[in-house]
Amino acid sequence: MRAKLGKVDCIVEVHDARIPLSGRNPLFKEYLGIKPHLLILNKMDLADLSHQKRVITHLEKHEDGKVIYTDCIRDENIKQIVPAITEEIESNPRFNRAEALEISIMVTGIPNVGKSSLVNALRRLHLRKGKASKVGGEPGITRSMLCKIQVSENPLIYLLDTPGVLSPRIESLETGMKLALCGTILDHLVGEDIMADYLLYTLNEHTQHRYVEQYELDEPCSNIATLLKKIALQLGKTQRVKAITGIGNVNITVPNYSAAAFDFIRSFRKGELGTVTLD
Ligand code: GDP
Repeated sequence: MRAKLGKVDCIVEVHDARIPLSGRNPLFKEYLGIKPHLLILNKMDLADLSHQKRVITHLEKHEDGKVIYTDCIRDENIKQIVPAITEEIESNPRFNRAEALEISIMVTGIPNVGKSSLVNALRRLHLRKGKASKVGGEPGITRSMLCKIQVSENPLIYLLDTPGVLSPRIESLETGMKLALCGTILDHLVGEDIMADYLLYTLNEHTQHRYVEQYELDEPCSNIATLLKKIALQLGKTQRVKAITGIGNVNITVPNYSAAAFDFIRSFRKGELGTVTLD
């Protein structure tokens, strides 16, 4: 990737809008140098954008580049990208090569933020072409490859598709939780039970109480075991276990907490528990 960077006119970094600050690789900034670049905050449909102006102002100040929110599923704001790329290049005289016939861009980011989806969305919009990039649901699934994909005719823009090349920066336990909840690191590295606990804490912190309705609770709750029990019973996810007691062995039914935690996290990722920005 570093070798290819020299030939690239603009770098498009894709990140998850729910964690605009967490998980971005600071090493990458060194490679970026003074290259024109764009920060795409994707999955805007899942983020709470009520503070977006503040976030954008903060990021643009620190990044020295444009920030665009996108939703690659519904193709929202995708048409802002090509003009922003040309604007970034033109505003940077060092990279404004008048003789250049084509623009070469590179899409980067940590796993599962939607890099391949963005490439496909760009192609859908500008070339009315089908899928060029495999879209995966699990971090690290997209194989690393470097190939040239046309994304626009006028101006002629090619991109080097380099999915999943950046490793997320996990600077604290909390960052790890956020990254895991957004599906950018594998769940088992953190543990689904702990993630579910953190998710409930976060939803309550953000007074995002959609889960109360979703799981037919009477009121918000702060006890993860109570919530997981309710979810497990609703899903019919229970297990029969043998308990050895003083009066002999008895079979009892217990909620499957792991299955409930998995479902709780999955619902959050699908946006069923409302929009939340974790940072
Ligand atoms: P990559 O690993 O960065 O290339 O990510 P992918 O493009 O493979 O996308 C990872 C997952 O996120 C897939 O399940 C996509 O369908 C989903 N996804 C991508 N963009 C969006 C978006 O804007 N909104 C939502 N809700 N899901 C998205």
